Amino acid sequence: MRKKHCIIGMICILCLALVLLALLSGGKPSEESLLRLKEAAKDLNAYRITMKLDDEKHTLSITEEIDFLNRTGHPLTDVQLRLFPNAYATEETSPAATDELFDLCYESGFAPGYVTLHDVKWNGERAEHQYLDAENTVLSVSVPEMKSGEGGTLYLRCVVQLPPCAHRTGYREGTYLLGQVIPTLSVFENGAWRQDPVSPIGDPFYIECANYSLSLHVPDGYVPACSFFLHQDKENVWQGSGLALRDMGLCVSNGYEMAAGNLDGIQIRSYAKSGANAAQAVACARKALRTYQALYGPYPFPSFTVAAAPFAPGAMEYSGMAVIDESYFLKSQWDTLELFIAHEGAHQWFYALVGSDPILNPWQDEALCEYALLRYTEKNYGQSAWENLRFFRVDSPMQERIPGGLTPASPIDYFSTLSDYKAIVYGRGAALLIALDTFLPEGTDAFLRHYVQQFAFRTASRTDFEQCLNAWAGQDLSPLVQDYLDTKMME
Ligand SMILES: [Zn+2]
Repeated sequence: MRKKHCIIGMICILCLALVLLALLSGGKPSEESLLRLKEAAKDLNAYRITMKLDDEKHTLSITEEIDFLNRTGHPLTDVQLRLFPNAYATEETSPAATDELFDLCYESGFAPGYVTLHDVKWNGERAEHQYLDAENTVLSVSVPEMKSGEGGTLYLRCVVQLPPCAHRTGYREGTYLLGQVIPTLSVFENGAWRQDPVSPIGDPFYIECANYSLSLHVPDGYVPACSFFLHQDKENVWQGSGLALRDMGLCVSNGYEMAAGNLDGIQIRSYAKSGANAAQAVACARKALRTYQALYGPYPFPSFTVAAAPFAPGAMEYSGMAVIDESYFLKSQWDTLELFIAHEGAHQWFYALVGSDPILNPWQDEALCEYALLRYTEKNYGQSAWENLRFFRVDSPMQERIPGGLTPASPIDYFSTLSDYKAIVYGRGAALLIALDTFLPEGTDAFLRHYVQQFAFRTASRTDFEQCLNAWAGQDLSPLVQDYLDTKMME
């Protein structure tokens, strides 16, 4: 009898523990956030992608179907795509071959990356196509005249030769970085397709939200980390899909261990070459998303992934994902890893959720993310930690001697070094948000939360930002904005 009671008691304790575990792990994403995502995904363009990685030739075979709807308000006779891997074809054009990056990125010397196009079809018919720029990154596909509101399906088949390069698109030692690897729709704006060059400074990717689904074949032993979760089917193909993403981040490695966590139903995963290091990244990501959800509103996606990869520039954001150089996952670098995850995590609000033009107005996501990182530091580590970080990341750049003519609102092609770009756009740009904190009765965070609500899943121009700010403040703060963003500091 006593033994029976004991067993019943143990079962009760076990059940209670399971319930507690389920509560702590957070369960499913809220209905509200799923509904918001589904609503945002309605009528977006859709990419259906099949990829196969060859780890002997270092190639990626891609077939891609894009459901495109003409929402431009103009009749179109072509659809333009960006083939970013072609920028890696020569040392002159590769964004990884600058003086600052070459040795770090091309450890074994330069070798080209490029795309070989095999098929281009529009609604099942072969389509005329041509590159419009010298670097072959702008592809124009001719289509029968398409009125606004009409659409069709674009089909492309291509093979990407990946470069041996620790950059957004490339590989090193069994890890493949496959960011910006698929042919991607350009943005049609002010009556024309954008055709910006692939600048080595900043993130020269101006992209609108779309829905993605992926079928990925990788060699045995390789594991993918992606903007959305991929499940291995019976044929060992990784399958998954994501809604209302601005891009699709993807890394594939033969050395990944995975750690998982959960926050309010958001699945958080990290992939690194050691499970302990991946677990640390999950803990940091959880802290970052929790802080920003409280400050700026709900995280937009059902999952967030942090992947370690050989990535010389440091870190890169994608919708639902951050890629961070693997050296920062070592235990001695965990403090820096946390700052990277906090900065890239903030991009989920200021880049992925509220898009902006990262080529002409890079401050509009980078300065906001630096400000968010400072707020993260204050919320989690207190006033003196915030002051300390502010000194290094904002006050010091304000004192630096910078080549004349550059301002925080300069477009990326004005900058010739990453260090000037970071000091001015990130550091001096964040000073605007700090100044606004004293002008806005409820502070900068309340305004940013409102800004996120107003422009969720859309793209905000600088004018949108300023009009939103002035309406929120009930006064014209444009002179203050101009003072911080447009004033040239003398040498
Ligand atoms: Zn950033």
